[in-house]
Formats: sequence, C-alpha cells, structure tokens
Amino acid sequence: MRRQIVRMEYMKGAVLMSLSFYRFNSSHTQSPLNAANLVIEKTTNPKPKLPKDELVFGKTFTDHMLEIEWDAKTGWGKPKISPYHNLSLDPSTVVFHYAFELFEGMKAYKDKSGSIRTFRGDKNMERMNKSAERIALPQFSGEELQKLIDQLLILDKEFVPDGQGYSLYIRPTLIGTTASLGVSTPDKALLFVIASPVGPYYSSGFKPVSLEATDYAVRAWPGGVGDKKLGANYAPCVLPQLQASKRGFHQNLWLFGDEGYITEVGTMNVFFVFQDPSTGKKELVTAPLDGTILEGVTRDSILELARDRLPNDEWVVSERKFTIHEVKDAAEKGNLVEAFGAGTAAVVSPIKNIGFRGEDIPVPVSLGNSGELTSQVAEWIRKIQYGEEDYKNWSRVAK
Ligand SMILES: *Cc1c(COP(=O)(O)O)cnc(C)c1O
Repeated sequence: MRRQIVRMEYMKGAVLMSLSFYRFNSSHTQSPLNAANLVIEKTTNPKPKLPKDELVFGKTFTDHMLEIEWDAKTGWGKPKISPYHNLSLDPSTVVFHYAFELFEGMKAYKDKSGSIRTFRGDKNMERMNKSAERIALPQFSGEELQKLIDQLLILDKEFVPDGQGYSLYIRPTLIGTTASLGVSTPDKALLFVIASPVGPYYSSGFKPVSLEATDYAVRAWPGGVGDKKLGANYAPCVLPQLQASKRGFHQNLWLFGDEGYITEVGTMNVFFVFQDPSTGKKELVTAPLDGTILEGVTRDSILELARDRLPNDEWVVSERKFTIHEVKDAAEKGNLVEAFGAGTAAVVSPIKNIGFRGEDIPVPVSLGNSGELTSQVAEWIRKIQYGEEDYKNWSRVAK
C-alpha cells in the first residue's frame, strides 16, 4: 500500500515535470512548419512502374517520400523529400511501445489535362491536427503540409495512374520518436508522407458486400478516441473482421450499446436510405458525430452534396442515431431502400445484406449491384475528384 502511494506521488511528479518541461519549451521560439524550406534529393535509381492491372493497394510505393522532424526545443525542421527509404529508430522509441501514431488517407487523381489533383485535403489536414492534439503530438499548418504534398506529387507524377478509378493513395503519418520508455509527452516527432499507386476498388462495376452486425466487440465508445485516426484504433478490429469473415461476411457493421446503435462499417462510415410510408419521402441517414464516429471526408461530402442536390420535396437528409432494430423493422415492412459504406478507398461500397444474431436482413440493390442513390453519389464525387466538374474548391491542382 505504502509503496503504491509513493509510486503514485512519484508518477504525479513525473507528469508535472513533463508538463512544465513542455511549457518551458513552448515559450522558446519553435519554428512553424514552412514549405519554403523544402530540400529535395532526387532518386538516382528510379523504380520501374507496374502495369496498371498489377497494382495492389498499399504494396508498392513511389520513388520519393516526404519527411519533417519536430523537436520540442526548435519546432519543425527543414522538410525533406528524398528517395523512399527505411526508417531507423531506437528500439525504445515511444511509437513502438505506446502507439504514438496517427495517420491520414487521401488520394491524388490525374485529370484529363495530366494535372494532379487532391480532393478536400484541407479536411484531412484538419483531422490530422485533431488526432495529433489528442495524443500530445505537435500540430502544424495544414496549408504548409498540403504545399509539401503537392511537391511530392509533382516529383512522383509518373506514378499517378490515369483512368477512371485509378489514383495515388497518399498516407501522411505522424509518430512520436522520443527514445524512452517513460509514458509522457514526446519531445521528438517525425511527420512523413508516402504514396502508393492504386487501381479501382471495384475493377468491374460495384460488388455489394455482406455485413455481420457486430455486438460482441466494440470499435469505439463515448469518451474514447474512435473519432480520431489513431493507429491504435485499427489493430483491435482485425480479429473481429476475421471472425466475421469465417462466418461468410465481408465486414463488421459496428453496433454500440444495448440499443444496437449503428455506427460504422469496417473502416468506413455508413449510410442507410429509408422510405417513410406516411409522407412518401425518402430519408438518407448516417450516425451523428458524437465522438464514436470517424469524421469521414467522404461522409461530409455526401451529406453536403445530398443536401444541395436531392429535391427537398422527396428527400430528408439526417445525421441521427438509428439502430439495427430500426433497419430490421424497415426491411420487414419493405421500407429499406438501400445502404452503403463511405470512405476514401472505395468512395461508396454498396451493402446487400446484414447478418444479425443468426438472422439475415436483406438490403435491396435495385440496380443489381447497388442502389440508385449509391451509384448517383459515386458519380457526383468521381466527377469532382477527377476535375470534370468544379464544386466549392474541393479539388486542388498540385503546382
Ligand atoms: C478513414 C476512416 C473513415 C473514412 O474517412 P474518409 O475521410 O472518408 O476516408 C471512416 N471510418 C473510419 C473508422 C476510418 O478510419
């Protein structure tokens, strides 16, 4: 008992010390992230480019990567683009022990004129800063990082495959690099960006997925960090996915609480369409951002486009809590219209059925492989991503 108290006091001291250490340092001038300081070291050994039909998600990478070191005393260092390489870190580095890691997922698209475009990267930067703040890693100017990513894209332009559905997946990552087993605020960090050419998620039209409504494992909870893109959120979801897959389902439909609230599907947000028999209106529904839902850029884009473009007299667009029981009930009464997952990798992923406690809830796919709104939304977003249509500066040309 006594030993424990002493230990607690000691720990409190350590926390206080690390807090004051941090404050002391932040009163010194820390350099902000500045894209103008970029140093480029080009590869002398360019990689051969894979034929488009051999691209596998996240397996091959472009010639270069971007790195920026951060130090609590001096702030952000000189951004550097150099040939893709291994990292060398001390085995005690905090990222390996306490998961000081967060990431983003965004894509670059080649438009008809050959320019490289990113889609709503400002939203990714905003989210990345929120993730960083939550695990005491340093924040940065999103616009400066976007400028640096643009430079990486220009340098590795040849790796961006052209054609519908083809893109370059971009993975900005931030890790704590303090070499110490102490659990405290990292005083060193590394921000790096790598990029992988990818083919269409669906090579020949949509393939609707079957889901297992999962209530024996929980992805996120109130007061937790499920609304942040922290690496630590993802490893624990692989085993339930494997279990669902053994039972013949593609993905988990993550439920929360005794009520059976529907939250997300796999690593995507999820949308359902219900028909209200009393008004005849259709309702597009997704879960609200209550801290258990990842703030998807695709989710946000779909909501905004749907509110802007679906006729008000036929549609209602809702962010509200809804349950698996409501879905089951609507399906039984013929009021379930369609459902789809939404995220950067696939844009939309149509759903064809949901297994729930041994029962099967069929989800209509009126066009054969997807519902009508699912396919409409995919087309709206594709046109903006590939620069075929301008919408609110959502598409940025790298220059
Ligand atoms: C990344 C992610 C999404 C989708 O976000 P986008 O910004 O649309 O790609 C949804 N849910 C989870 C859990 C995610 O990690």
